[in-house]
Amino acid sequence: MSGLRDRYTGRLADVSAPGMGRAAQHLQPINGRYDVASLQTSRGCPVGCEYCSVTKFNGANIRRRSIDEIIEEWNSTPRRFIFVTDDNFFGVGPKHAEWAKELLRQIIRRGRKRLWFSQTTINMGDDAEGLKLAYQAGCRGMLIGFETFNRESLKDYHKGINRNNLSRYKELVDGFHRAGISVFGAFIIGADQDTEETVAETAVQSVKLGIDTIQITNLTPLPGTRLYERWMAEKKIFATNYPEDWERYTFVETVYHPSNMSAARLDEMIYELRHAAATTPWVWLRTLRTFRMTRSITSALFIHGMNKGWKRMAQLQLPKDEARFGFTPRINERTRKIRDAFRLTLAKYPSMWAAEPVPAPAAG
Ligand code: SF4
Repeated sequence: MSGLRDRYTGRLADVSAPGMGRAAQHLQPINGRYDVASLQTSRGCPVGCEYCSVTKFNGANIRRRSIDEIIEEWNSTPRRFIFVTDDNFFGVGPKHAEWAKELLRQIIRRGRKRLWFSQTTINMGDDAEGLKLAYQAGCRGMLIGFETFNRESLKDYHKGINRNNLSRYKELVDGFHRAGISVFGAFIIGADQDTEETVAETAVQSVKLGIDTIQITNLTPLPGTRLYERWMAEKKIFATNYPEDWERYTFVETVYHPSNMSAARLDEMIYELRHAAATTPWVWLRTLRTFRMTRSITSALFIHGMNKGWKRMAQLQLPKDEARFGFTPRINERTRKIRDAFRLTLAKYPSMWAAEPVPAPAAG
């Protein structure tokens, strides 16, 4: 009974209990098969960004599964590639880092050889030992929420860990690359400080940082988050015809009134980015640059697959975008910048290739 009550009242599960947090690794979709297995080692994140549902949904404390259970599940996954779906794999302090490193040591010692990627915060880039262990354990990519290059926006987002490290982004990204691990950079557009130029600037800055694959989404006030509650009180959200409007909270549609432009205009700015992604040759350039920076063939291949898939999605989206927006983006200063960023244009942005070549990690 208490188990059911916990579910209804939303009390957080004890994921260290036997069997908790384990995925049914043998299940496959009825119309195909998963190429990537999913596995979770922990839940929760203490950072508490205002727009993020994780802290509300999974809690501010990082709750860990037993290492023995993780290794057992790790060894039973039928796929050779794993998405470790933790909210924040490495965590934010010495205690979190020690646990993550112990898990990595155990994977190296007892785990079957797998390649994997996960999600973490930027601070992991400072921990050379943790990064080395992660690479040895098969990690080839980490998704990191950079969100923005604007200090004020980071303050509004309550993302102190990024604000404190903003001037060190490049140094921290280099730390991942030095270990052989690629960086998947996530950015959000739609803060009060964002303008029509922000998407183009973000694309350029992220390439200058050396980010291997980039994801830019609309700021979305997910229900239950502090951002949602604040904006509802301020009457800033207009997509409130629930339940129908829940379908619009998809990270590709602006459902509130931004400060510096209309919601439709913000969507158009991100459409320009998708259009450039779909119509510019850039995937191989990124692959080569990732190889140059990580000296890891498997990381470069991982990035190649990610970027190829992303370009394909942008191409599939193209006719839908054209129908939705009713125009094809013209060449202008903004779109030129985005295309140049995708092409890693040497003449305009020589620093895009200027990252110091890094020593080779263990072969793989
Ligand atoms: S660091 Fe990431 S997971 Fe943690 S609260 Fe912020 S956005 Fe969510």
